[in-house]
Amino acid sequence: MKTIKLKQRAAQHVKSGNPLLIEGDILNTKDIVFGEIVEVVDAKSGAFLGKALLGQQNKGVGWMLTTKSSEMLDAKFLERLLTNAKQKRQSFFASSKIDAFRLFNGESDGLGGLTIDVYKQALVISFYSQAIFTYRQFIFDALKIVMSGYSIFEKCRFEQAPYDTNHVFGKDNEQFIIQENESRFNVHLNDGLMTGIFLDQRDVRDYVRRHAKNKTVLNTFSYTAAFSVAAALGGALKTVSVDVAKRSIELSTQQFNVNALSLENHAFYVMDVFDYFKYARKKGETFDMVVLDPPSFARTKKRTFSVLKNYGELLEDAIHLTNVGGEIIVSTNASNWKRDDVLRMIDETFTRLNRKYAINAEFKQPTDFTTLKTLPSTQYLKVFVVKVVA
Ligand code: SAH
Repeated sequence: MKTIKLKQRAAQHVKSGNPLLIEGDILNTKDIVFGEIVEVVDAKSGAFLGKALLGQQNKGVGWMLTTKSSEMLDAKFLERLLTNAKQKRQSFFASSKIDAFRLFNGESDGLGGLTIDVYKQALVISFYSQAIFTYRQFIFDALKIVMSGYSIFEKCRFEQAPYDTNHVFGKDNEQFIIQENESRFNVHLNDGLMTGIFLDQRDVRDYVRRHAKNKTVLNTFSYTAAFSVAAALGGALKTVSVDVAKRSIELSTQQFNVNALSLENHAFYVMDVFDYFKYARKKGETFDMVVLDPPSFARTKKRTFSVLKNYGELLEDAIHLTNVGGEIIVSTNASNWKRDDVLRMIDETFTRLNRKYAINAEFKQPTDFTTLKTLPSTQYLKVFVVKVVA
């Protein structure tokens, strides 16, 4: 087994429970071999800190696995992690209102690069590095024990993946309807990387449903229009959903259908959000609630959008379309963007336009999307409900 030597600060971080290894933490970078399990030591004292799996991921170059020299990444180890994770989600398994939720949330549940979601009687596993993907058989074996009776689908979310999605085991029930509080959503578990619903926005959808009565709602980057469904179920006067993907119309219509909602007063535009903003301004359209939930990075034919660079412009456009007294839901899942910096962007945008705002509510990930205090980026979802005061 190779040995990786950590610089002082990184060694401190690891000792305090931060499992992420980045390249700059490592003294002997020439010994980094992706896919290998290595011994991690303090470069200065030589003290054993634990074992790590090295793997290339956008977050770093590896994850600590254990602080025990006797432990290995095998089915037993995984069974223990999965059993703990399942224990933490007892309230979700027992819930009659929610039947889709996160079972295992990567490093926050003890193994970076791996997430597992429950959709009724099926599991969707996501692999975020080639390294963790090579351990997939152990993961399946452990799941067959801890989650017996569940079917398994997998998603590969790393570069040069052999495929995006695959049915692994059990019933090939790839399409069905899940329940989320008062809403129902159609999901596809074996159709590309996405399933039709983002489970981490559950609490925000609930907010939209509870606050949409008699309101006009604009849902940008709408995907399957889950926020519009929430608004419609909450009694919105009208919703407008905008997404650049052609398929979004069919997928969104399905979500309205499974909720027995008529499509009257609900419009879907296949359009670049920034073009829609121009179009709506020209028509003089305004809304009582605007949802901004863009991907962290997106390239369309016309432009590249990155939340870090362009969120201010997005918010500026949204402010122009929001009635005074209305609300803008400012959401981002960019783990490299800090909460305070999002708040600063909101403040700078309103100040630049000489407008006034108030933060009415804030959401983070729901409790099934566990986080680690020692690694703040695990709290990746930042959502502010911003009231346009003047
Ligand atoms: N808010 C959604 C999830 C958004 S996923 C939800 O809660 O379910 C991101 C979506 O943004 C994708 O469907 C993608 O097609 C869309 N998208 C990316 N860039 C866009 C752009 N410039 N204009 C409109 N839609 C865009």
